[in-house]
Amino acid sequence: MKTDRADILSLLRNSGDYVSGQQLCDRFGVTRTAVWKAMNQLKEDGYLIESVPHKGYRLVESPEDILSPGEITSRLTTEWAGKKLCYYDVTGSTNNDAKRLGEEGMPHGTVVVADIQTAGKGRRGRGWQTLPGTALSFTLLLRPSFPADKASMLTLVMALSAAQAIERVSAVAAGIKWPNDIVLNGKKICGMLTEMTMTPEMDEIQYLVIGAGLNVNNASPEEFAEDIRDKATSLKIETGRQINRAALLNEILGCFEHNYDIFLKTLDLSALQGEYQRRLLGVGGQVRVLDPAGEYTGTSEGIDEQGRLTVLKENGEQVQVYAGEVSVRGLYGYV
Ligand code: ATP
Repeated sequence: MKTDRADILSLLRNSGDYVSGQQLCDRFGVTRTAVWKAMNQLKEDGYLIESVPHKGYRLVESPEDILSPGEITSRLTTEWAGKKLCYYDVTGSTNNDAKRLGEEGMPHGTVVVADIQTAGKGRRGRGWQTLPGTALSFTLLLRPSFPADKASMLTLVMALSAAQAIERVSAVAAGIKWPNDIVLNGKKICGMLTEMTMTPEMDEIQYLVIGAGLNVNNASPEEFAEDIRDKATSLKIETGRQINRAALLNEILGCFEHNYDIFLKTLDLSALQGEYQRRLLGVGGQVRVLDPAGEYTGTSEGIDEQGRLTVLKENGEQVQVYAGEVSVRGLYGYV
């Protein structure tokens, strides 16, 4: 949860000017020594803070990329997403943490962030690899009041939001591999997992968590484990630029808030379909549908208003593929 350091950093960043020690003491009800200690900690973290007698403190420069509660909250410009933040340097899985917080009654919009996940989860029991100091791993806890059969669309809403946010912070075109992988130049930079818990009566959603893992600042492909090296990449590898993960998180949550509002109006993707489809990879191309009930190939025709992928089989049959248990691949590669 929030620390003095986080609060002080937020105030300095948002003020953009000198803030006196006395103002900080009054605002947060702490002593001068506590302020001084917090400033020293921030300097140790790499922030350049100027202190001028009779004027106070001013944030001059921030580290290029640092993930901490202070960095995240001080960059947050959202209305509700992430206002309650739970940060871990190391955790097993942010989705599991968010589900625990869901059980404990934490509100809609709570966000769990971790620098390192030791047991990150993908779909169908698969793993998600997180490399320390480079990845953005977070989970958003939602308490929607719409019917459970609408929930699978949210994973597409989050995929669209992540793609839009990546484009904003790094000015590259992000592709979406249905339903929710973000792909740059044919390689995956982001995976997502949505999990839902029903009320004990099983008639309503109690809470829902959407987790995302992004490869942000990995410097070279060799940093990924061998088994994913041919299909994983990072924003830094593709753009050559170091990205501030807290700023990226803020953009993703901001885009999600916006898209979620649009989704709530119709409870389908009709108003978001165009934006999603514009980024959807492989439309018009041959795909392999890895359905647990049986694999088949066909032509991808894009998504419908429910977020299902329409695939035209070779025998002329048109299939609507539900996200959830199914993966889709290009005929000759990952995309
Ligand atoms: P896919 O089509 O990639 O299998 P999926 O949606 O079924 O997509 P996810 O649940 O998003 O899979 O992610 C799990 C898979 O992603 C793993 O099986 C692994 O192949 C791959 N993976 C794991 N960690 C990373 C990573 N850091 N970057 C890119 N890919 C990863």
